[in-house]
Amino acid sequence: MPKLLRPDLIVRSIYEIDLSSLREKGIGAVIADLDNTLVPWNATEVDERMVKWLFGLREAGLELAIVSNNFPARVEEVSSRLGVIAVARAVKPRRRAFLNLAGRLGLAPCQVCVIGDQLFTDIIGGNRSGMYTVLVTPLDKREFIGTKFVRLLERVLLRTMN
Ligand SMILES: [Mg+2]
Repeated sequence: MPKLLRPDLIVRSIYEIDLSSLREKGIGAVIADLDNTLVPWNATEVDERMVKWLFGLREAGLELAIVSNNFPARVEEVSSRLGVIAVARAVKPRRRAFLNLAGRLGLAPCQVCVIGDQLFTDIIGGNRSGMYTVLVTPLDKREFIGTKFVRLLERVLLRTMN
């Protein structure tokens, strides 16, 4: 795999990231993708688990920012709810938005962790910017797999009832 496409870490979801180990790496902030990373695609509800995660993040001494290629109205709906800064229409994998956010957070690129579900936008963009990159499984895909599993279970159960 080309170096620019290679994430530093691969996990199933944001909740699996060890926040204290990020701090030990000298990281001061997380720049996260929105759709399918923080919330399911085009969803705006922020659930309790997400709020708790953000609380834990801040407790660990980390800031959060959002970088998204989606429209400003959509991005602001979530970022204002979470009380974090954001860049919409980021044109990832271009570096501009990543470096803009790092500057606003007062951090050098090497002190920033980028989390996203897409190699060609989030991971390449973060790597090109000199940041620590984490790839997560898209939320929608996880839901889809979950749904498939439930369907299978339903079929098995129905068969035993007949
Ligand atoms: Mg995404």
